[in-house]
Amino acid sequence: MIVHVLTLFPGLFDGFLRESIVRIAQDKGALAVDLIDFRRYAKDRHGTVDDRPFGGGPGMLLKPEPIFEAVETLEAQRGPMHRVLLTPAGDLLTQATAERLAGLPELLLLCGRYEGFDERIRLGISWEEISIGEYVLSGGEVPAMVIIDAIARLQPGVLGDEESALRESFREGLLDFPQFTRPRVFRGMSVPGVLLSGNHAEIEAWRRQEAARRTQERSGAAPEEQQDR
Ligand code: SAM
Repeated sequence: MIVHVLTLFPGLFDGFLRESIVRIAQDKGALAVDLIDFRRYAKDRHGTVDDRPFGGGPGMLLKPEPIFEAVETLEAQRGPMHRVLLTPAGDLLTQATAERLAGLPELLLLCGRYEGFDERIRLGISWEEISIGEYVLSGGEVPAMVIIDAIARLQPGVLGDEESALRESFREGLLDFPQFTRPRVFRGMSVPGVLLSGNHAEIEAWRRQEAARRTQERSGAAPEEQQDR
């Protein structure tokens, strides 16, 4: 899968793309990330991409011309693709959204900056608008990294144990169950006996029960309700 990222700060992605699962996904050929600095599509020789809002108010807005030109140039080369505009006003990112995006062959992420976008960027290009949470960040780069991380680990063959993505929180509407490693006793806290029993059926039953209990505790809803979602 190829993810194209329109950003004014491609350098922010340096360490992120070089480490851990996102690096492995690229090394395995499951993911490619194409960083496009849309300042290069600015119309003047100063590389201006922002301007003051009509009607007054604080801060600067991203101008439409460089972003339209960046999208049109990319799609003239690669063909039309699914586009995501990162904004605190978007739909909250969920694991289901990450799974849907992870199945696409190509994806475009647009990172805002400053006070955000001239409204015509929203109106004149069709986007899925996504927020990573109900707070305001300085730019769309961290949200883009969140999406890239969430979809990289879902690419086939990227996680060592294929099962691990299938068993994580939010799959089947349940949070993950508690897990333990060595030592068996740490500061008076013991690993539950069932996990040391070697009885796989009992271990599986305990894990499902604990996942349901944790989901219920943290949502206030009954586990059956969670699983229906
Ligand atoms: N004035 C805008 C508002 O109140 O909605 C906020 C602009 S924010 C400082 C700059 C950019 O960061 C946004 O255009 C968006 O791309 C990105 N951004 C900030 N918070 C975000 C969030 N929670 N989810 C997704 N993108 C976010």
